[in-house]
Amino acid sequence: MSCSKPQPLYQEQLLALGALVDISIWGVEPEPAQQAADAVTEDFNRIHRTWHAWQESDLTRINAQLPGGAPFPVQADLMPLIGRAQELSRQSEGLFNPAIGKLIGLWGFHGDEPKGPPPDAAAVAALVAQHPNMDDLRLGRSRCPASRDTSRTLRYRSSLCVENNLLQSRNPAVQLDFGAIGQGYAVDVAIEHLRQLGIENAIVNASGDIRVIGKHGARPWRIGIRNPRGPGILASIEMQGDESIVTSGTYERFFEYDGQRYHHIIDPRSGYPARGLVSVTVLHSDAVTADAASTALLVAGLKDWRRIASNMGVKQAMLIDEQGTVYMDAVLARRMHFEIAPAPKVEITDTL
Ligand code: ADP
Ligand code: MG
Repeated sequence: MSCSKPQPLYQEQLLALGALVDISIWGVEPEPAQQAADAVTEDFNRIHRTWHAWQESDLTRINAQLPGGAPFPVQADLMPLIGRAQELSRQSEGLFNPAIGKLIGLWGFHGDEPKGPPPDAAAVAALVAQHPNMDDLRLGRSRCPASRDTSRTLRYRSSLCVENNLLQSRNPAVQLDFGAIGQGYAVDVAIEHLRQLGIENAIVNASGDIRVIGKHGARPWRIGIRNPRGPGILASIEMQGDESIVTSGTYERFFEYDGQRYHHIIDPRSGYPARGLVSVTVLHSDAVTADAASTALLVAGLKDWRRIASNMGVKQAMLIDEQGTVYMDAVLARRMHFEIAPAPKVEITDTL
């Protein structure tokens, strides 16, 4: 038995993927906690180098080859996220669309300080007309050795040999931008890694893309949700075990030009920043789904969010519109505590 008491809370901060990342680990001695935080820091740095949309990365190399139209080899470990993004994009009816990298670049969001002016309307319309989407991508398969028993081969093939290593686009307008899921993905990878290292109680928070495991001692972890319309915290929520909470907001990245504000979440149907909502918070088991969904629901707006949430398997979401009205499903409404006075106007909808 060790005589030193475990340090209650170990915290570390880093910058990656354009986000301030907070790692909190509870109930472990400082040394293993620091080693775990270092391992997770390396995960974030690796994901930054792999998926960055405009600094040289594996993704920029993929983007350089996509317009050629021919299949090209891609490292096998990059394929699962591309496949997952394709699936999430389909479920969102294309509102989460990481194939619109050209549009994001056209708006000037492929730079550290977007500043406008907004792009020419004809240039936006031309890109929208090319309709780049994730179904334009073919995730190819290299051949695996044949076996005598065909039925068994088919059934077990995917687990026996790595086949997903070719990528091809049939639409020259497709350019990938994983800005909407990169942080959520990194948070999932980090939590998985912490678990492998034996950490049972932790929070990883990448600028509002959060996943928690375990507890903070006897208490559950409590998360604050930023007020999208002013400083400070809007509401707080107690997390239950392994759970993710992700917020997308129009206040995260934007520029002002001629008195107009243009933010970084683009409606792929119009090519313009999505209108109507200022932030969307999604609770879900994994952070990458929550991240894609928060972007998709922000684009979907008040008319369609319930259908898109349900397509994506999301059961708990909170939306805030430009007037500051909060919309929530009944399950989340029971968990959310407002921290501002007076509390905002809230409209509670049926369970999702
Ligand atoms: P936040 O920065 O608030 O976490 P998101 O998770 O929604 O917001 O990510 C926004 C980023 O996603 C943008 O900077 C851009 O790179 C990309 N993006 C913008 N619109 C879309 C869209 N409709 N589908 C997929 N990705 C998008
Ligand atoms: Mg997102």
